[in-house]
Amino acid sequence: MDGELSGDALAIVWLSYNVHGNESVSSEAAMATLYDLANPSDSRTQPWLTNTIVILDPMINPDGRDRYVNWYNQAVGSTNNVNPDAQEHSEPGPGGRTNHYNFDLNRDWSWLTQKETRARIRVYNDWMPHVHVDFHEQSVNSPYYFAPAAKPLHAVITDWQIEFQTIIGRNHARYFDRNGWLYFTKQQFDLFYPGYGDTFPMYNGAIGMTYEQGGGGRAGLGILTAEADTLTLADRIAHHYTTGLSTVEMASVHRDRVIDEFKAYFDRANSNEGGEFSSYVIKSYPEDGRTDAMALHLEALGIRVGTVTAGRRASGFSYRSGDDAAFRVTPGDLVISAHQPRSTLLNVLFEPISAITDSITYDITAWALPYAYDVEAFATSARIEPDAAFVQTEGIVSAAPGSPYAYLIRWKDVSDAKFLSAILREKIKVRYAEKAFEIGGVAYEAGTLIVTRTGNEKFGETLGSVLSDLAQRYRQSLAAVSTGFVDSGADFGSGDVHYIKRPKVAVLRGNGGDWASSGQIWHFFEQQIGFPVTMMTPDRFKSIDLSDYDVIVLPEASYSELLNEDGLKRLISWVKSGGRLIAVGRAASFFMGKKEFALKKKPSEKEDEDDDDDGEDDDNDASPASDTLKVYGERDRDRQTERNQGAIYKVSVDNTHPLAFGFKKESFVLKQGTTAPAYLGGSGSWNIGILKKESLVSGQVGFEVIDKIEESLAFGVQEMGSGTIVYLIDNPLFRGFWYSGQLLMANAVFLVGQ
Ligand SMILES: [Zn+2]
Repeated sequence: MDGELSGDALAIVWLSYNVHGNESVSSEAAMATLYDLANPSDSRTQPWLTNTIVILDPMINPDGRDRYVNWYNQAVGSTNNVNPDAQEHSEPGPGGRTNHYNFDLNRDWSWLTQKETRARIRVYNDWMPHVHVDFHEQSVNSPYYFAPAAKPLHAVITDWQIEFQTIIGRNHARYFDRNGWLYFTKQQFDLFYPGYGDTFPMYNGAIGMTYEQGGGGRAGLGILTAEADTLTLADRIAHHYTTGLSTVEMASVHRDRVIDEFKAYFDRANSNEGGEFSSYVIKSYPEDGRTDAMALHLEALGIRVGTVTAGRRASGFSYRSGDDAAFRVTPGDLVISAHQPRSTLLNVLFEPISAITDSITYDITAWALPYAYDVEAFATSARIEPDAAFVQTEGIVSAAPGSPYAYLIRWKDVSDAKFLSAILREKIKVRYAEKAFEIGGVAYEAGTLIVTRTGNEKFGETLGSVLSDLAQRYRQSLAAVSTGFVDSGADFGSGDVHYIKRPKVAVLRGNGGDWASSGQIWHFFEQQIGFPVTMMTPDRFKSIDLSDYDVIVLPEASYSELLNEDGLKRLISWVKSGGRLIAVGRAASFFMGKKEFALKKKPSEKEDEDDDDDGEDDDNDASPASDTLKVYGERDRDRQTERNQGAIYKVSVDNTHPLAFGFKKESFVLKQGTTAPAYLGGSGSWNIGILKKESLVSGQVGFEVIDKIEESLAFGVQEMGSGTIVYLIDNPLFRGFWYSGQLLMANAVFLVGQ
């Protein structure tokens, strides 16, 4: 190999291994693959490398793999045992699939919530591979899966991408046939949700593929399959090694076409061919961190974001209202042109209605970022190009004449909660205004944080500089005022201005096998807002004095064992004496219908089986007769009719309650599943977020459950004794990407019940 780069472009193949840490064959297969590629006397691989670059990421998820390998080495004996009953085949929770915070990195590609993803995407954007493979493992008894992928395919996926998947798949099949290895294609693994290691490359012009070997965390060094064959680690390595090299081979053989098609893809992207909209505009508001957060997110993905230097009138689809509307583009607004190289990814992340081609998918079916960030966003048919770069907001400290009486911080989004967290960590005393007020001719919304000199005497003259240092560091705005006498609203000494006691927070961890949801909460506290939290095992939870904690967060899990009659009694008495309970998702549903809890099922549930009297001629198959005579071959599809894998709903918000400070009158939730409680009743119960009729915005919801979900509670608060219970029916921290959900959680932790 002469190693010299010629003038010809090279194909780039990127092979990613071990995103799921307990799918342990991947990193081993990476070594075998690397060995052949790096061997100068390998007559098969060396010719490929004259026109193809191969990038190997041997271990996307080092923490998860480490967890798996450490456990396995403790569980295995001096000789491994292929009996599936042996302990080495039963990996304990949380298992090695996920990363440190139990995030599935193969759901995070577009969201960049995890540092592994952020680091990887930076390098990915530098290289922009033509072909990307994500190596996985599936169950022991499923032999091997490779592309072409199953439906649904996102509508933006091109014929060429599927064609080349098929070319590669046929080449794999050639090797597998020769060895007599079993495999399947075109089933199960779809291409829709943008957080995967196959879809993300697809939406960036590459041929993205998932390969699945049978085995995974159960397989160890060897295991008996259902057919009484022994599946060994060596077998698994051989298969992934074979498909890895076969992929490189095909990229090399078809180098010219691969490069031409890639170039054509980006030419089309630059002219936004097939794009529904030409530009997107995100309105920016002073001191509201969400537009900055969104711009930084998009830029990290490689999407160009800018703004305009002069205002202009425009019209387009309003994500907030769901209708076309006229609006004004003003300097500072984010302007994102769809005429840019990454327009496919951009359009996928901004589609008002998900473009799904088939209804069977095992993931959420809507994700559009304008809803997740809860911004005022418009999609326009007219092309609006930015003429200035996006610039991140600096911290602004505005001084008052004389000696400041207090400092004010607006409460707009989770970046303010991060600032509050820093203030509390500095042991600065802080309050929040329950009502909007005006001072010195400036209006402040409910939720505004107030730091008075009174109470913070220990800082003396340094209070201002400590606060402004924090404001600079966290890029927040701080206004100094010289009086506590407001023009309208409540003065700072009023009972409507609440002291924020620094809460001591415990989060239940690992209860009933819950790791994902508690991991999201853990990540929220540690990485997103930087506030100390105690992650607590169920055993510890049972034995401690709950009154040591102000806030307890119950993640999504099953609670029937932990909160048995005694456990529940103990929890209720803690709430009554002032505890603040936050129940997320299934934790909230656990309380549904239980004595003393305001959360109830809707009375109509289970009663409206079939007969709708809307006069429409709907010969649907929901009637009992056709249910009995359902078609076996359609069973996967039929199940979808009563499911909601994840769809976006509009939520009507009572933003006079602290749980919704920073929210507008309408916001959005990502709803998964079909739990849809009645509105809370009784005194001391508040319906803060509700789903009204026809509130489905985007995504697939089975027609049998659409009615059930409407007119239900999304989030609410029950006052119980001196304490509170916050019900969050839909997990606001799901996969960490629903930006406005973080504000909801922050409100629950810091403001509610104070
Ligand atoms: Zn996997």
